[in-house]
Amino acid sequence: MSSKAANPHQALYESARQVLPGGISSSIRLNRALGRPFYIARGEGAYLYDLEGREYVDLLTAHGAALLGHDHPGVRAAIEAALRCGAICGTETPAQSRVAARLAELIPCIDMVRFTCSGTEATMHVLRLAREITGREKFIKFDGHFHGYHDAVMWNYGPPAAAEAPGAPRPVVKSGGVPRGLADYVVLLPFNDLEAVRRALWLHGHEIAAVILEPIHYNAGCIVPDKAYLHALRSLCQEHGVILIFDEILSAFRTGPGCAQAYFDVTPDLCTIGKCVAGGTPLSVFGGRRELMEHLRPLGDAEHSGTYNANLIPIMAAEAALAELGRPALYDHLFALADRLYAGMNTVFGRHRFPARCQGLGARFGLYFGWNEEVREYRETARQDTALALEFFAGMVKRGVYLCDNGGRPTHHGFSAAHTASDIDRVLQATDDTVAALVKGR
Ligand code: PMP
Repeated sequence: MSSKAANPHQALYESARQVLPGGISSSIRLNRALGRPFYIARGEGAYLYDLEGREYVDLLTAHGAALLGHDHPGVRAAIEAALRCGAICGTETPAQSRVAARLAELIPCIDMVRFTCSGTEATMHVLRLAREITGREKFIKFDGHFHGYHDAVMWNYGPPAAAEAPGAPRPVVKSGGVPRGLADYVVLLPFNDLEAVRRALWLHGHEIAAVILEPIHYNAGCIVPDKAYLHALRSLCQEHGVILIFDEILSAFRTGPGCAQAYFDVTPDLCTIGKCVAGGTPLSVFGGRRELMEHLRPLGDAEHSGTYNANLIPIMAAEAALAELGRPALYDHLFALADRLYAGMNTVFGRHRFPARCQGLGARFGLYFGWNEEVREYRETARQDTALALEFFAGMVKRGVYLCDNGGRPTHHGFSAAHTASDIDRVLQATDDTVAALVKGR
C-alpha cells in the first residue's frame, strides 16, 4: 500500500471528490493550508480529534456555533429529550414560545422572534420584513460586511477587489449566478463613516427600507466601530424612517448575554441572532419590536414559513444553551481568555518581529498577516499576505491547533467557554514555535 493511500485523510478526500463537488459540503471547507479538507472524527469540549485520533485545540469552533464547546452535556441532554419527543417539525410545541420569551428577556431590541435554520434565511427574511413595513425596496449594506448567501446580499464581502474603489464603493458581485439587476437595490457604503450614511440617506432616504450591518465586523477579522458612530446611525435611521438591522448571526453572545447591541448600548429596530444560540445545532432567529414583527403573516403580509423552522432538536437545544449564554459569569471567563490570547499572540509576534496582528473582541478574533498595526477599515485587509497566513495555519495544525484558513484571507477565529487558560497557553506555545520556525525559514 502506498503511503498516500495509507493516509486516511487523503484517501477520504479522494473518494469524497467523486460525490461532492470539490470533495466538500460548503465552499470554504477546502483547507488551502493543508491542500485538502480538515477531517474530524469528533469534537469534545475545546478539542477536535482527527481520523487518526490526534487532538487539536479548536479555534474554529464551528465558525462560532460551538461557543459552549463540543458535546456540551446540557445541550446533549436536550437533544436526546427532543428525540424522545419524536424530533417534531411542522407543528408548534410549548418549547418555541419559551425560547422566544428567554430571547426577549436577554436581548434589548427583541419583543418577538421568528426562527429559521440558517443565518442566510434569517437575513433574507428580515430584509423582506423591512421592505414590507416601509414599502421601500432598497437597503444600505456596508462594504465588506457579510450577511449570508442569498442573492440580495452577495455584494462586496470577503477579500476586497481592486474594483472596490474607496469612497463610494460600487457593487462587486461575489458569486456567479446572481442577477446583476439586484445591484439596483443595494446602496453600498464604507463602514464607520458617518458622513457617507448621512449623505446617502439625504439623497435616497425615501427609497431605503433598511440599514443592515455587522455591529462588530468579525467577517473581516475583527473591526470594531466607534460607539458614537453606532449611536448616530441609530438616530439617522429614526429621522429617515429607515429600519436599523443589526445582523448578529455572528456577534450574538460573544460579548455578553445582550449581544453586541447591549455591549454598545445601541438598540436596533430588528436583529438577527445565530450560530451559538442553539449550542451548535442549526437555529437562527430574527426578531425585534412587536409592532414591526406583527407585519409577518398571518398578522401582516410578509411571508415567513418553512418545514424545519423551529424544529424541536435545535429549539430544545437552544433552551439548554440559553441557560448558559444568559449567565453573566460566562463572559468573565470569555473576556479573561480573550485578554490572555490576544495580548499573548501580539507579544509573540512582536518578540519575533513577525509581521502579524491579532485583533479581537469578546470570544472572536481576527489574525492579519503582513503588518502589525491596528486594522480600522475593511479595505486595509487587501494587504493581507495570504501565503504567510497559510504557512502560519499549516504550522499551527502541525502543532495541534486548528484555525480557520479561509484561503489565507482575513476571517474570524474564536474559542469557547470550554477552553481554559491552559488551552490558551498551549495555543501561545504553538504560536511561538510556528513563528520561530517561519522566521528561521525566511
Ligand atoms: N450573517 C453573518 C454576520 C454571518 O457571519 C453569517 C455566517 N458566517 C451569516 C449571516 C450566514 O449564516 P449561515 O452560514 O448560518 O447561513
